[in-house]
Amino acid sequence: MDIEIIGRLKEICGDDYVVSDLSKIGNYLYDETEEYLKPEACTDVVVAKPKDTKEISEIVKYANKALIPIIPRGGGTGLNGAVIPDRPGIILSMERLSKNIEVDDKNLMVIADSGVTLAQLNEELKKTKGLFFPIHPGDEGAQLGGMVAENAGGVSAVKHGIMRNHVKGLEVVLPTGEIVTLGGKLIKNNTGYDLLHMMVGSEGTLGIITKVILKLYAKQNHTGTLLVSFDSRQDASDTVPAILQSGITPLAIEYVEKNVIEEAARHMGLVWPAKEGIVDLMIILEEGTEDDLFAKSEAIVEIAEKFNAVDSIIAETAKDQRNILQIRSNVYTAFIEHAIDGMDISVPPASVPYFVRDLDEIAAKYNTTLPCVGHIGDGNIHNFVMKENGEKPSWFEDIRLDIYKAAMKYGGAITAEHGTGKTRKSYMPLQYTDREIEIMKGVKRAFDPNGILNPGTIVDL
Ligand SMILES: Cc1cc2nc3c(=O)[nH]c(=O)nc-3n(C[C@H](O)[C@H](O)[C@H](O)COP(=O)(O)OP(=O)(O)OC[C@H]3O[C@@H](n4cnc5c(N)ncnc54)[C@H](O)[C@@H]3O)c2cc1C
Repeated sequence: MDIEIIGRLKEICGDDYVVSDLSKIGNYLYDETEEYLKPEACTDVVVAKPKDTKEISEIVKYANKALIPIIPRGGGTGLNGAVIPDRPGIILSMERLSKNIEVDDKNLMVIADSGVTLAQLNEELKKTKGLFFPIHPGDEGAQLGGMVAENAGGVSAVKHGIMRNHVKGLEVVLPTGEIVTLGGKLIKNNTGYDLLHMMVGSEGTLGIITKVILKLYAKQNHTGTLLVSFDSRQDASDTVPAILQSGITPLAIEYVEKNVIEEAARHMGLVWPAKEGIVDLMIILEEGTEDDLFAKSEAIVEIAEKFNAVDSIIAETAKDQRNILQIRSNVYTAFIEHAIDGMDISVPPASVPYFVRDLDEIAAKYNTTLPCVGHIGDGNIHNFVMKENGEKPSWFEDIRLDIYKAAMKYGGAITAEHGTGKTRKSYMPLQYTDREIEIMKGVKRAFDPNGILNPGTIVDL
């Protein structure tokens, strides 16, 4: 990396917070994208670790003038290669913007630096009288800024939606270096175009998020986790619309196939408690009273029995519930070594049973299996494309295309929550028209006329 660029960054951040030595930047080059899909990182980069918004603004003004690409980097837990540098530039690590977390319990909001991790936020909320933040992607090392930039989802989207539903305000450094405040502690704000929501899911391509204002909620006191087992994928997925139609909205309805979840349990040194059947629905309820919790659990079991459920288990103790959630959260890490890709398809929730049937047909066509887990209550299926004899199969691209095309039949999306990044952008024309993609490029140009912010991610100009 050019010595002049390193020198200027050191002037702004201080010598200790600029790293260019190749032996020390390895941890900043990749995210958690599947091994076979990762683009190779360009190593002609420098890592800058600014301490605050002002330093970020100075770096961006300099880079915009000198036309140096900048990649904002949060916790590095992303699954789409968006933080992997594909050209020389500055990796802007947000790790030092993690000091301030202020809970406003009257407005039920939290104002935090964007580098605060989800683990940090959850620890802080333990000090409150029962406030919680509902979004939980599987890795608590994710930063709040990264979660906004990826519009993260997770298990509780059935009841609480996704990140977008809880972002109320942002402080952002624009690609020109100007600092703007979008939104605020407002529940309603209809003035002008909604620039705040342009930032949500923009994957570091439109601005650098430096502060977030997020909505908080009062915890319901009684939670229970139900595992309902089935002998067929179809029966399990047919049960879900029936539960939602009954007026019960669980916190989470997760679909887990036995071979996948048992591998995750082994990985954790734990035991998955449901033994019967080939697939389980893991249903988390959070209710105001114990009576409600039991009544809804019983109603769900009755519905599931109509769809041939073969067993059901209720975990009531905090420890049992924690173990189940922990196993579920580790599925991806435990299983991905056997797979080439953990896909992230979204279809309308009522179309899931049909999409799952399509997956069976596609698997048969390629003489493989497509094991699945998923946030089935919100129509989000993660199917794994498996290795063949430990290697990438020759038909890998073909099967992926077949799966995406199957999702499109139902008006689905190529990514539900993991984002477009660098690994999925080539599939965007399956979902969007040329005109729609052209408008997205226009938005990118309006925010970032010189194309310096995370180039190569989402759209190419
Ligand atoms: C085991 C595991 C399980 C996961 N489960 C889920 C899940 O259930 N649901 C889900 O939605 N995701 C899941 N993820 C993906 C990941 O945790 C989320 O995408 C998360 O939001 C990424 O946050 P991060 O801070 O790690 O961002 P990074 O990976 O560092 O960056 C992601 C993107 O955000 C941009 N970015 C980061 N910080 C900023 C900022 N301050 N300003 C502007 N842009 C920024 C980057 O440029 C990049 O484009 C999982 C990941 C792992 C490893």
